[in-house]
Amino acid sequence: MDCSESLSYQKALFWFRRDLRVTDNKGLNACIRGSIEMLPLFITSEWQHEHPWTGPGRQQFLCECLQSLSHNLNHLDSGLCFRKGPQVETLIKLALETGAKAIFFNQDPDPYGKQVEKKLVLEAKKHGIKVHAYHDLSLHAPGECLKKDGTPYRVYTPYFNRWIELEKPRSSQRLKLPPLIPNVEMGSPPELSHWGLTLPKNHHALPGGEKAAKKRLKQAVTRVPYYLAKRDHPAAEGTSRISQDLRWGTLSIRKVYETISTAAQSDLKNHSSYHTFLKEIAWREFYLQILDHFPEVLTKEFQSVYYNLPWQFEETYWKAWTSGQTGFPIIDAGIRELLQTGHMHNRVRMIVAMFLTKDLHIDWRHGEQFFNQHLIDGEIASNNGGWQWSAGTGADAAPYFRIQNPWTQTKKFDPQGDYIKQWVPELQEATPRQLFTDPGGGISVHPGYTPTIVDHNTERLKTLSIFQTHREALM
Ligand SMILES: Cc1cc2nc3c(=O)[nH]c(=O)nc-3n(C[C@H](O)[C@H](O)[C@H](O)COP(=O)(O)OP(=O)(O)OC[C@H]3O[C@@H](n4cnc5c(N)ncnc54)[C@H](O)[C@@H]3O)c2cc1C
Repeated sequence: MDCSESLSYQKALFWFRRDLRVTDNKGLNACIRGSIEMLPLFITSEWQHEHPWTGPGRQQFLCECLQSLSHNLNHLDSGLCFRKGPQVETLIKLALETGAKAIFFNQDPDPYGKQVEKKLVLEAKKHGIKVHAYHDLSLHAPGECLKKDGTPYRVYTPYFNRWIELEKPRSSQRLKLPPLIPNVEMGSPPELSHWGLTLPKNHHALPGGEKAAKKRLKQAVTRVPYYLAKRDHPAAEGTSRISQDLRWGTLSIRKVYETISTAAQSDLKNHSSYHTFLKEIAWREFYLQILDHFPEVLTKEFQSVYYNLPWQFEETYWKAWTSGQTGFPIIDAGIRELLQTGHMHNRVRMIVAMFLTKDLHIDWRHGEQFFNQHLIDGEIASNNGGWQWSAGTGADAAPYFRIQNPWTQTKKFDPQGDYIKQWVPELQEATPRQLFTDPGGGISVHPGYTPTIVDHNTERLKTLSIFQTHREALM
């Protein structure tokens, strides 16, 4: 793939993937500079609702991002062409039909996306079409932030220490788009029915699209000064809420970094909050590089000592967990927030994921898939990282013996039960103490609410024994 900058094509295609914005988009800007006429395009996959990552809230968010992108491109005297089908074949067909001699795009981090890129290069070559690919997704590409010996980091803190030292790329101005390649049937944006999905009645996610994303970034600037104090409290609006915009590329990571760094320079007294926020941005990049260097994490544990752990699958537990009916208020609140909004607060994600793996002994891969279907920010690198962290099997994960107690976590992070009450109406009248006091197994914390499906202390001991036995067997 060629990324040189002095390009000049009469006609070129720009293939949008997970970079659904017109502002500071590296591949798009290169295509604008390098072509006299261009055709921006999006190809809807043929995945239907049976695909493990396809859920209604998430696909609806994508549809909104695409409508917004199409609107923005029309407004800039260009447009967005829509096609459905296998990506490589569709791109080649369109290039041949339009006479485009080049295809530009931003790289995808996941193994499937990379496979498609490789195939595209081979097919395009057969037809004399050039392919230009760019790294747009993170501040530092996986190969840019390595240990002194050139190998990838496996532990977060040294990764961050190196990452923060590296000079950060700057965002760019929006460029004027060249005219559209004429006489192309533009098609229309996909709708949820394409995947055979419908939105649940009470679903209310954040709106998708670049305009909404920019508004959220503006709002994030007012929240980051208090990030350190508030970010772990799910009832407080203490986090940025930009993860879905980084996932779908409606915000540029360079713009996010610049915006927050500029705010930090004029607010020195809150330095620790800004620094903590940047550390989270670096966690995203840490997991992206883990996925790039160790793609096997998508199917296996990062730490090989935990291959073939004896996970269990109790159908009734799985149903209770996925429907928010476990009798553990903080768990049920988290799952219900996810089902209704496509989001779950980070602290609650950790508690919920640890509960599935350590209290219900269910394989983290089941939870990972469920999250990916429902999260509007569902992103395979961070999601896999988060799940393997919680299961104790990942890169720089919580050690298996450090098992979070859902009751004490509630007392610490939702002491008044405000978050729980927002999502679990049966508990409106419960006292804070009822919400964070462990009643034991099979007992309800409040009349009218479901009894606890397990006893946390019993399951904790069981987990310790499973992990210890497994480790000892390997020694
Ligand atoms: C089990 C589990 C699954 C997760 N799945 C995803 C996922 O699919 N997609 C996703 O974007 N994040 C995931 N996370 C990380 C984190 O929960 C979300 O990024 C965060 O809740 C998003 O809210 P925010 O934008 O308000 O975050 P903020 O706290 O404002 O953080 C700013 C940005 O930093 C990044 N970030 C923050 N925390 C993390 C983290 N722990 N790991 C990686 N990046 C982080 C995100 O891009 C986020 O938008 C997961 C965490 C866990 C424990």
